Amino acid sequence: MRTPAAFEPSARPPRDGKRFALRFWAIRHARGMETLYALVERALVGLAPLFARIGWERLEKPVASVEKLVKGTLFDCKMCGQCALSSTGMSCPMNCPKGLRNGPCGGVRSNGNCEVYAEMPCVWVKAYEGSRAMAGGAAIGTPQPAVDHRLKGRSSWLAVAREKSAAAAPAKVPA
Ligand code: SF4
Repeated sequence: MRTPAAFEPSARPPRDGKRFALRFWAIRHARGMETLYALVERALVGLAPLFARIGWERLEKPVASVEKLVKGTLFDCKMCGQCALSSTGMSCPMNCPKGLRNGPCGGVRSNGNCEVYAEMPCVWVKAYEGSRAMAGGAAIGTPQPAVDHRLKGRSSWLAVAREKSAAAAPAKVPA
């Protein structure tokens, strides 16, 4: 079994600026993205009873495929399964080559670019910019839990629908 190196870049180096155009567009429009996501989330939570009837696990693969397509296009999502976009100014923290989920490392260049990939703006600098435009932008100051790698590839959308619908359900009174 291969022993992982202490540091392995988790995101591919940028090939050209155009590849990131949509990612940066989404961050520039973080407020609109926030509103759109709130609508999507409300719809998903509303559909939770139907999802439960079909079976959460049965839905996992098709929903994760759609989520990957949509969020991969807009945010360069890496499908970590525990989405933090609402707390990170719509800048996906998994695009940080060091995989940092709680702010930048100490190596951000003076022009705001990444220490590892000098041509790429630091995802946390962009996260801060995006968060300033969002109504819930203060969430960027809330510490994120460590990444649970068991969730990789799973749908964050379904997880949120499941979690929020369960929280909203009336507690069962014991007979
Ligand atoms: S935080 Fe995770 S789920 Fe959200 S966009 Fe990034 S990789 Fe995808």
